[in-house]
Amino acid sequence: MSEEFLGTKLTMNLGARSYDIILRRGSLENLYQFANLGRRVAVVTDSGVPPIYAQMVADQCKDAVVITVPQGEASKSFKTLESVLNQMLAFGMGRGDLVIAVGGGVVGDLAGFAASIYMRGIDFINCPTTTLSMIDSSIGGKTAIDLGDTKNIVGAFWQPKLVVVDPSTLSTLPRRHFINGLAEAVKAGLLADPELFGIFENGDVDAEVDTIIYRSLKFKKNIVEQDETEQGMRKALNFGHTIGHGIEAVKGIKGRRTNGLYHGECVALGMLPMIESKALQKRTRAVYRRLGLPLRTGYDKEKVLAEMLHDKKAQSGQITVIKVPGLGCWQAKTIPVEGLRTLLGMED
Ligand code: NAD
Repeated sequence: MSEEFLGTKLTMNLGARSYDIILRRGSLENLYQFANLGRRVAVVTDSGVPPIYAQMVADQCKDAVVITVPQGEASKSFKTLESVLNQMLAFGMGRGDLVIAVGGGVVGDLAGFAASIYMRGIDFINCPTTTLSMIDSSIGGKTAIDLGDTKNIVGAFWQPKLVVVDPSTLSTLPRRHFINGLAEAVKAGLLADPELFGIFENGDVDAEVDTIIYRSLKFKKNIVEQDETEQGMRKALNFGHTIGHGIEAVKGIKGRRTNGLYHGECVALGMLPMIESKALQKRTRAVYRRLGLPLRTGYDKEKVLAEMLHDKKAQSGQITVIKVPGLGCWQAKTIPVEGLRTLLGMED
């Protein structure tokens, strides 16, 4: 157990939009110590998150309503957004009130977006309960819903007022989701943190999960502080996502396609061709094998390429990809879109 990181506070320094990120086991049941809960609070969760977590938060509030949406990506829709907003309105929420997300990235993205537009924006607190949301999606202020098959196309930058990460909630998370989220931490290690990568190579990820979350949050915080709205530096976080999104469109879990791959699994596959050193590629494959992340999917490369070319970022004939020449460093490279074919071929 990584004692030194229990009870850590990080601060996201964004001027007037700065906020604390509390990383502590037991912090969810002590949320009242960190936030003003003496107002109307909408606690948004989904049907797959054990209800005890949202209830634990609601019980600390003066006046709370728990809003439970169906679990899964399909809830990042206008229909569900409207339902959440309607429930907030019916609860009589005003400008000074608060939305708290208790769940994974789906709940965080949906509830954060609802907070950003309700009465032109009200306070939002994120309490992530999946590895993916603890490591990545709960900080940085990106909120969004999907439009049809197009992911995250309608949204806003809306920074939370506070993020409370309680790793003890991971005890109920299904193993595959647990590992899926860790792919984003492997990403952080490859891009900028050899010590973090070392945990995946030699450490005990279950025992060291608090450290993994801490180091990943620190990495993302540094990037977001330098580039809040993704004008440059923040693009590094898209490492693995160009090919990853193509694979996700073809092989991802959505609708009735329930036997596909999760987002982190697709990103993991998408990172491999972007690692320029063969030796590091081999080490990364060994990490995937150790974690149980996929190494290949047997996906149809022509279909993946077609999806990537369809991406609006590739439509100028050129695309910027993030490459990792060696462990802990990265470069943005603009390549002709035909270069994607070569990159995809590298996976064999
Ligand atoms: P998710 O929110 O769908 O959660 C995965 C599943 O685990 C769900 O069925 C959920 O009900 C369940 N669950 C959540 N917490 C649990 C717990 N503690 N115990 C048991 N079950 C639990 O998926 P995710 O991987 O957390 O997030 C994926 C979403 O995040 C995608 O929509 C993606 O677009 C988004 N995302 C956003 C950002 C951002 O910066 N805003 C970054 C990356 C990903």
